[in-house]
Parts: sequence; structure tokens; C-alpha cells
Amino acid sequence: MSIPTSVLEDLLQALPHLHPQIYFKASLTALSHAIEDQILAGSSEPLVIASFQRERFYRQEAHRYLRIAERTQQVYVLAAPETDFKNCSDHYETIAFDPTDRLSHEWHLVVIGAQYATCLVCREREALPQPLGKHGFANKSGKSSDLPAMDQVRRFEGIWTFDREVSCKVAELLLDRISIYRPELTPKIEQARTQFLTLLPGKTDSVDPDPFAERLVTYLQAGQYKLLKAYRSIAAQEQRERLVNSITTAIRQSLNPDDIFKVAVRELGASLKVSRCLIYRCKATDTKATIQYEFLGDPVQPLKGQVWSLQDNSLLQEVIQRRERIDIAAIEADPHITAAEEPSPLIELINRWQISAWLVAPVLYQGRLLGMVELHQSTPYRWIEEELALVDAIATQLGVALIQAEAYANLEDLNQQLEALDRTRSNLVAITGHELRTPLSTIQVCLESLVSEPDMPLELRQIMLDTALTDAERMRKLVQDFLTLSRLESGRVEWHVEPLPIQECIDLSLSNVRTRQRHHDLPNITAQVSSDLPLVKTDGEWLVEVLAKLMDNACKFTESTGKVTIEARTRGDRMIEVTVTDTGRGIEPNRLETVFERFYQEEGALRRTAGGTGLGLAICRQIITGLGGEIWAESAGRDQGSQFHFTLPIAEEPPEPPKPVSTKKKSKRSG
Ligand code: ADP
Repeated sequence: MSIPTSVLEDLLQALPHLHPQIYFKASLTALSHAIEDQILAGSSEPLVIASFQRERFYRQEAHRYLRIAERTQQVYVLAAPETDFKNCSDHYETIAFDPTDRLSHEWHLVVIGAQYATCLVCREREALPQPLGKHGFANKSGKSSDLPAMDQVRRFEGIWTFDREVSCKVAELLLDRISIYRPELTPKIEQARTQFLTLLPGKTDSVDPDPFAERLVTYLQAGQYKLLKAYRSIAAQEQRERLVNSITTAIRQSLNPDDIFKVAVRELGASLKVSRCLIYRCKATDTKATIQYEFLGDPVQPLKGQVWSLQDNSLLQEVIQRRERIDIAAIEADPHITAAEEPSPLIELINRWQISAWLVAPVLYQGRLLGMVELHQSTPYRWIEEELALVDAIATQLGVALIQAEAYANLEDLNQQLEALDRTRSNLVAITGHELRTPLSTIQVCLESLVSEPDMPLELRQIMLDTALTDAERMRKLVQDFLTLSRLESGRVEWHVEPLPIQECIDLSLSNVRTRQRHHDLPNITAQVSSDLPLVKTDGEWLVEVLAKLMDNACKFTESTGKVTIEARTRGDRMIEVTVTDTGRGIEPNRLETVFERFYQEEGALRRTAGGTGLGLAICRQIITGLGGEIWAESAGRDQGSQFHFTLPIAEEPPEPPKPVSTKKKSKRSG
């Protein structure tokens, strides 16, 4: 059963002249310990009743009550059960009350002896007037926080007195409750009442207060010390938080690792009061690193800008291998250093840079080494747990910052690529529009003239029709080439690569050119391909397309009295190089690359003399690159002839028996 009323309230009702006071838990602990010590030091056999709020508070004191029980028969201990606490008559009486019982908010100790009587009757004040600062002695609801360090400042209100009348009243109230919780104890309780609670008229207590006061002071001092320790740990935690916050803020304000590292090296170095703090970037595979960021706390030699050998430094190597921090409190006695054989680069470093204590922490992101944080002290120094935790926290933050910056840089790169792509697309739309509009306007003008002037002489009509047809054909070619190029550029082409003899492809392309240009006087074309050339690894159909385009161009830009030669030879790098040379009009040196751009034509779009779409060489470059080779132009300049070279990989041995190259257009061609 659970009793909802408070012992303190019951006492105040019975003795209204009492005035409760406020105590912190630290002082109540000191008081109760001093009272318990007084029992242990005395010679009488008093009645002792202690009521703990929870079993866990009782557990800390259980050993004292065992000793108290050796002195007296009448010991009652009450607590709310958690794990082991239960009703029991063993060394002394334990009485378990329900956790919902009002006693679970109270803390009592009463001692009634022959020479003295004392009591402590308190209830916990749950709500604090206001939260106490950011380290939260109270949480948002106003209840005391569970932070163990601040347990000492829990507040209680109640009465502590040596008044026998008050103490007897408290004992009575508690005994009443005990007889409700454990009715089987009634005879023992009755005996206690008779023995201790009957006030003898005129009896005055005689006890020397000095030993009690001394004990109390000792316990209070112990409590103060605990409090001091708690405050120290809070201060350290605050410092850590402030530092991590300043670095997190730097990360938030800047995506530039440089800014972040500058803040980190300064804050970490200053807060840990080191001789030297270093931060630098490195990868696990690097053999050396340049010290980029430094903080100097003592007048030691600066290391900024120095190149640190990672390879020769066994300590750094160990950190790199294990991906774990190493801290050395005293260099001279440490096995990392003493194990090194002299002359060792490590010992040289230590002497040169006055390092007596050394901490190296890796900056990692998902196991990937991104950099190092180093702390140096010029005198031996053992870093404490909090400091090590701080270094680890900073190293983690730096890892995140670096990855964030990397991701941002990639994003920027991608953005620039997208912007460039967008510009290209807009240009392409504009150029394509222009290129299509030019022949279309000619066709339109011719057809309009034919319609509007029915009397036009027959020859002129024929010219108009021929012009319109030529430009319609040009448009068809333009659209076809444009679609082919767009398929090649978007990677939507399926290559059918096989080992082929280059001679066969050249023959096929030559016959294509001759068929296409049968109405023109072609220059003299010769092919020089040695019969023992290895097979090339290529897609025959696309290769014939390239060869035909290059030869078409060579014929187009060379007088019929000139010469066009096609050669093929092996190179040292398992490639075959094919060259189409002409003695024609040549290319200006500054145009040798431009000719491969889309729609480039020397004459410009409006003054075309040689036909063509301006897309041929762009298509050739896409095909050759797709087949794993390279294509480029050479020319000594205007009227000096041109050379177009391209390479293709040689097929692996042993080759399959050569297949004839199909002349049939595959459906993959657009148009
Ligand atoms: P086109 O359809 O105009 O030939 P290409 O892309 O094949 O388009 O060639 C682009 C431009 O490069 C040509 O218009 C010409 O100005 C120049 N060019 C290409 N081949 C030669 C060559 N063999 N000699 C001189 N100039 C050439």
C-alpha cells in the first residue's frame, strides 16, 4: 500500500512552531553521515530509523547500517524497492514502501538514544525557481536533471534538530507507518515506543557537541570538494564545447578548408596550451607532407612550411597504418622512440624541434586518411582523457569539413561543366538554325521566282530548279550528318569491333569516293600500304566512313592536277597510323584544330564553293576517339597541302581469319 501524506507535513501539523529550512543534498549527506558516526562512536543502544528515497541511495549507505546494527537491536531502514530491497528482518529491519508512496520524495533519519535525540526530516523540492544556466541543473520542466555531477545541488526543505520532543514525534510518525507497512513488527515497534518514546519528565540530554560538529565539518568539506570537482568537469566540458562549437561555426561559415584549419589550429593549440600545434593535409600513400597550419604556444622554432617526411617517420607511419591516435607523454622513455636505431630520422626530428611530448591524431573520413593533427610539448606532458577526447572531436570535425569542401568543389566543377554544356547547346541550336536556313532561303527564292514568273526563259528555269535541288540535297546531307554526330556525341552508338585488314577498308573507301565524285576530275590518288601490316581492331563500317570523308576532303580541296596519297604504317605503341596527304590548298597553322569543330568551313557558311556540311571532320574525330585512336591535321600553311593522320589499335594475336568488310549500310546510320 502507498501512503500519500508527507511525514514532514504531519510533523509540522503536530508541532506548528517548527520552521523548515532549505538544505542542499551535499549538506544533508554531511549531516546524516555525522549523525550516523555519532551513533557508531557512542556507547548507548539507540532507536535508529532511516528512510531513503530510493534503494540506490540506501545501497551507498548499507555498510554503515550493518555496523550500526551491531550496536543496537532497534534499527529500521525504509526505501522504495528497485532490485534487491525488500521487507526483511535480518541484521536490521528493512521496510519496502511503494515507489508512489510520499516517502519516495522524502529523506529522514531519526536517532533516539539515552543521552541525546536528533532527527533530520526533509522532503525534496522538485521544482527549482528557474533553470540554472546552460549546464542545466534543472531541465525544461523545472525538475532536477539527472546529471550525476550536479546531484549535490538537489534541494530539500525540512528540519534538522537535536530537540528530543521533535525527534520523538518524528520517530512516532515513522513507527506508525512502519506498522502499516509491516504489521508483523508491531510487538517490536511497541517495545521501541515504550523504551524510547516515553518522555521522562525533567530529563535533559547531555552530549558533547564538539565531536559531532567536527565530523559535520569534515563531511561538509568532502561535499564541497565533490562539488568543486563537478564544477571543474563542467568547466572542462564547457571549454571543449566552446572549441568544438567555434570549429563547427567555422565549418558552417566557410566551405574553404583553409579558413577552417586556421581556426582549428589556433583554438586547439591555445586551449590545450601546447608548445606547438600542427595541422596538415596528407593521404595514406603520400611519402611527405608540407606543414600548412601551425600554432606556437612557447618560444619554440616554427615548423610551418617545412616538409615532414611521412615515409621515414615510424611514429607517423604507425598512425597511418592503424588509423588511430598515438600520444607520447615522455619521448625519452617511450618504446616508439627507444626502439628506433640510431641514427634515426625520428630522434633527429625530436632533437631538432624540441619535442618532449608528442600527440599525433589522424584526420579521417570513413577510414580514409585526409590529414594529421599534431601536438608538441617542449617538456614531458601526459595528456588527460578530456584533452584526448577534444583532439579526437576536432580531428573528426576537420574530416567532415574536408569532405564537405571536396563535395562542394566537385559540385562547382559539375556546375561549370553543366553551364558549358548549356552554352554549347545554345550555340549549336543557333548555328544549326542558321545552317539550315541558308539552303532553305535559296530553295524558297528559286521556287518563288518560278511561280511568280511563268515567262522565265527555259535555261533560267533549269538553273533555278538545279539550284533548288542542290540546296535541298545539301540540307538532306546536313540533317543526316547532324544526326550522326549527335548519336556519336551522346554515346548511343554500338561499336562492332573486330580484327580487320586496313587495306580492305582503304580499297572500299576509295571505291566509294570514286563513285561519289564520278562527275568531277579527281586528282591522282595512290595508296601505299605494305602487305604485312597487322590487323586493326576496329568497326569496319565506321572506319570506311572516316577514310571516305578524309579522301573526299583531300579531293575537294586539291586541284585535279594535284596528288592525294593514303598510307598506313605500324607504330611502336601497338597502333597503326593512317595518313591522307594532299597537295591542295593547305590549312593555316592556327586552324589545324579548328577544322575539327562543328560547322567550321574556311569559306564561312555563305560562301561555300566546295559543298560539304562542315560536320565531316567533327564526325571523324568522334569515330576515331570511339575506336580508341586519335586524329589530327598537319599542314605547312596555305597552298602547301594538308595531312590528316589517325591511329587505331592493332588487333590482339592470334587474329581470326579476316572477314570481308560489308558494303551494306547498317541500320545504325541515321538519316
Ligand atoms: P566540310 O563538309 O566543309 O568538308 P569538314 O568538317 O570535313 O567539313 O571540314 C571542315 C573544313 O576544314 C573544310 O571546310 C575546310 O575548310 C577544312 N579542310 C578539311 N579538309 C581539308 C583539306 N584536305 N585541305 C584543306 N582544308 C581542309
